[in-house]
Parts: sequence; C-alpha cells; structure tokens
Amino acid sequence: MRGAVMYAPGDVRVEERDEPQIVEATDAIIRVSAACVCGSDLWPYRGIEDLEWPAPMGHEYAGVVEEVGEAVETIRPGQFVVGSFWASDNTCETCRAGYHSACVDRVPMGALGAQAELLRVPLADGTLVATPDLPADDLIPSLLSASDVLGTGWFGAVAAEAGPGKTVAVVGDGAVGLLAVLAASQLGAGRIIAMSRHEPRQRLAREYGATDVVEERGDDGVARIKELTNGLGAHSVVEAVGTQESMMQAIHATRPGGHVGFVGVGHGVTLPGMELFWSLAHLHGGPAPVRRFLPELIDLIWNRQIHPGKVFDLELPLAQAAEGYDAMDQRRAIKVLLRP
Ligand SMILES: [Zn+2]
Repeated sequence: MRGAVMYAPGDVRVEERDEPQIVEATDAIIRVSAACVCGSDLWPYRGIEDLEWPAPMGHEYAGVVEEVGEAVETIRPGQFVVGSFWASDNTCETCRAGYHSACVDRVPMGALGAQAELLRVPLADGTLVATPDLPADDLIPSLLSASDVLGTGWFGAVAAEAGPGKTVAVVGDGAVGLLAVLAASQLGAGRIIAMSRHEPRQRLAREYGATDVVEERGDDGVARIKELTNGLGAHSVVEAVGTQESMMQAIHATRPGGHVGFVGVGHGVTLPGMELFWSLAHLHGGPAPVRRFLPELIDLIWNRQIHPGKVFDLELPLAQAAEGYDAMDQRRAIKVLLRP
C-alpha cells in the first residue's frame, strides 16, 4: 500500500509501505477514506522537532473498517469510523475521567502513519466511533476534522470554560484556533474574539461565530483585548499555537479568575513564576482527549449542525502529500486533506 514517509525536514515522500496486519486481538484495520496534514506535522518538517527518520506520517483519519481482531466486540467490518490521534481503551480510570489522551494503555497513532491507504488502529473498541451509516461524501472532511483539529479546538474551549455569558479570545488562526471559535460559539459564548491578521481566516472565524477580530499580536494584541473588555481581559482564552509569545499573550489577555485552555503543542515555552503568580488565571490544557468528545461531535456533524470541514481549503491525492506539507508550511493553505 502507499503511504507518506518523512525522511528529513522538508522531505516527504509517498512510497510503498507494508500493509498493516492485525497484531493484537483488539486491533482493527481500516481503509482510510481521508487523512490530512496537521499543524504539528510542521514541527519536524521545519526541523524544530526530531523524529526517528524515516518516519511514517499522519495521525488523523476516518475510513471504513476492513477487518477486526477476534477480541473486538463493538466495531464491525463495513462501518465508517472516526478515531482520535491517541488510541485509548476507554475503560481505565483516566479514560473514565475523560482524559483519554493519557490513557494507561494509550498508543500514539502518529507512529502508525495515517497518511496511507490502510491503517492499523489499536484498541479498536475504545478508540473508534462509528457513524450511523456510511456518510455522504461531503460529510467526510468534517468527520475527519473530528479526529484531531475539531476535537482539539473543542477541548481548548472546554478547558478555557467557554460558555454563556463569557467573553472568549482565541490566540491562533490555524485550523485548531478556528475550530475553537466554532466550539466556543456552540458552547454558548456571547462574545468571541478571534486573533488573526489573515483575511480568509478572519472570514472563516466570523462564519464560525467570532464577533470581533484582533489583528495585533503580542503586547499590542493583549492591549486590544483589554480595550474590548473594559480593561479586564477575557474570561476564557484558548491558546492554539504553542510558542512563548502566544502562551504569554494568552495568559496576559485573561482576566483575574479567568481560564486559559492551551492546546498548541508547546515548543520552548517557559512560564515566568512571578507572572503566573500575579495572573490569578487557571491554566488547563495538553494533548486533547478527543475521544471524550467524539460521539457528540459526530452527532453534530451528522445532523449538519456544524461544518468544521471548511478548514480544509486544499484537497490533494495522497500521492501529492509533499505538496500538501509545503502548502501548509508556506501558509498557502489552512489545512490540507489527503485522499488515498
Ligand atoms: Zn484508558
């Protein structure tokens, strides 16, 4: 089968890989209907994060079950399924508390390489959620988004305690930031401030429910948020980038007693203790427990109440994965969908 493999920073190739087989009795094999390039795939692509080269790529997936191991009980061949970027048992104490991304049995899907024709999914019963039926083709991008970016943006908004009566600010205008805007809106936030200086992204943020757009960054961005909130700062701030600047911008833009939901993968972020001390902010975040939200998100998508798939503004055949990485790296695309 064909799959994307990164050989070094900037070097992604689609090549013949071994077909995945059932290894554990709890595995499923799925035929990938759609996969995509993640903002976090850009860290190794840009040489900021080291991988063990050559590395199979991709951790977001939706597709049709081909085969299941003999211990799999709820997932059946022929079903269309979506799973998180962490495989999880959905039964351990951590999963039952809603933190599937820290499941005691977790397996990182990125190591298995979802940008491929076929994918082995460990812990199939705990990881995969089936749709009611085979989806219409136009629903597939939205269902795929639930695998990571929608679930991550949703967790960011939940961790920031977005809800009725709250002013929510979102730092970051990538797919996760835009979908955090959508999540905040769905969670009932009245005022949502998107931070973006890119016109097409601002437009999508407004479509997803942003009431205000702030173009300034850093201290100027913080000052603008304060101006818009009677000098207090936002109740809820979602951090969806993962740099020192974005994290400090999020903390400084949060009012005393407010909540920061941080879902950008932190690279080189160091938090100064005195600033944390005086911020009086709640901090909660990390790798999103997407599995917690999947049934609800799939339901909203299935009933066409939300359209998160609009973040995919470039669709390419899997064979052109390298072009997809380049387009995201150069910010020509918000998010690239790959069709095997
Ligand atoms: Zn678990």
